[in-house]
Amino acid sequence: MRSVSILGATGSIGESAYDLLKRSRGADRWRVVALTGGANIRRLAEMARSLRAEIAVTAYPDRLAELRDALAGTGIESAAGPAAIVEAADRPADWTLSAIVGAAGLPPGLRVLERGGTLALANKETLVAAGRLIMGTAARSGARILPVDSEHSAIFQALGSENLETVESVTITASGGAFRDWPMERLATATVAEASTHPNWDMGQRITIDSASMFNKALEIIETREFFGIDPTKIKVLVHPESIIHAMVSHIDGGSLAHLGAPDMRHAIGYALHWPARADLPVARLDLAALGGLTFRAPDEIRWPALRLAREAMDAGGAAGAVLNAAKEQALDDFIAGRLRFPEMSQAVEATLESLNGRDGFTKSPSDLATVLDWDKEARQFAARWATGSKGR
Ligand code: NAD
Ligand code: MG
Repeated sequence: MRSVSILGATGSIGESAYDLLKRSRGADRWRVVALTGGANIRRLAEMARSLRAEIAVTAYPDRLAELRDALAGTGIESAAGPAAIVEAADRPADWTLSAIVGAAGLPPGLRVLERGGTLALANKETLVAAGRLIMGTAARSGARILPVDSEHSAIFQALGSENLETVESVTITASGGAFRDWPMERLATATVAEASTHPNWDMGQRITIDSASMFNKALEIIETREFFGIDPTKIKVLVHPESIIHAMVSHIDGGSLAHLGAPDMRHAIGYALHWPARADLPVARLDLAALGGLTFRAPDEIRWPALRLAREAMDAGGAAGAVLNAAKEQALDDFIAGRLRFPEMSQAVEATLESLNGRDGFTKSPSDLATVLDWDKEARQFAARWATGSKGR
């Protein structure tokens, strides 16, 4: 019997993981340790009851009483607040899924690595903000990180045991998101509701908007660099509207290995859950004849400045990943709140990167959590100020 924890259980990735656990509960294969969530207390308690978790934790201290009531009589422990989430991550579990959205996932994910656990990582922000810290901690403790982002799971699978030295390039695909075919001049009028729909994937609101702006792909380029240690010049993005090919690894002999599958995160989550074995997963099987064709386009860096910003951040090195991620999270908050127009998100991030680039220590990669969080805070503050005034409209 393996023990598992899910951080961010009530989100889109968390629900998919829950579905997989429920379906493969035969002979009590899994012992569920911790489940964490946010404001959806009813769902968190329901999941904890149904999986017979040891502990359920909400991010919000003012919701603890409600969680406790919802779990009354079950023997399931309850706790609340960011520190309690880190403590939950510290409880021994063979496999922990990090499916919290945003940099909030960094402290608990890091704790899993410090205790030498296996971290199935959907929370890409962790690697973007703190690549050196995360990979260094895992190397020191002997912890394993399994990628759960579909593109990175695809690279991981296509790479197999092959030597990185023979890899000429790695291509991650992008659907192009909600505004792929919009005329550029219309982007300034894009509403939050319009940006929150995705042509192929059913995901949380934040990553869906990030897909429309291509900030999701920008984060994924940096995630690829940090996780696989691949040179930025070898990482390519290809727009592929059907989202069937998730990534492709091309070798120096001219051969390429692509990973294909229906756009369903239960593949990547299930692959990491059962790794190194493969299990029968409840995802639709591909019918390429029915699909008829797959199409591709070169990415347009004028339409999607986020892609250029990712490259610039990798060139700048140091704290640029933490700054880009935090400025992006702030700009996204500001777009959702109506303080920024859609194209202004990338302008806010660019202005933040430019401004903080001159600060002391920017060019040094943060190797401890406190330094990452300092850069994160600085970047959010700058981006927030940019949104409320100094953008010069
Ligand atoms: P979501 O918004 O649906 O769910 C996020 C989860 O994190 C929820 O359980 C929420 O309660 C919790 N949470 C939110 N803020 C928190 C905070 N401050 N502290 C603690 N918990 C908090 O998000 P999602 O779409 O499931 O994405 C989760 C992560 O997985 C993100 O990093 C995303 O980029 C990544 N990812 C998602 C998908 C997808 O298909 N949804 C695909 C690839 C990668
Ligand atoms: Mg992805």
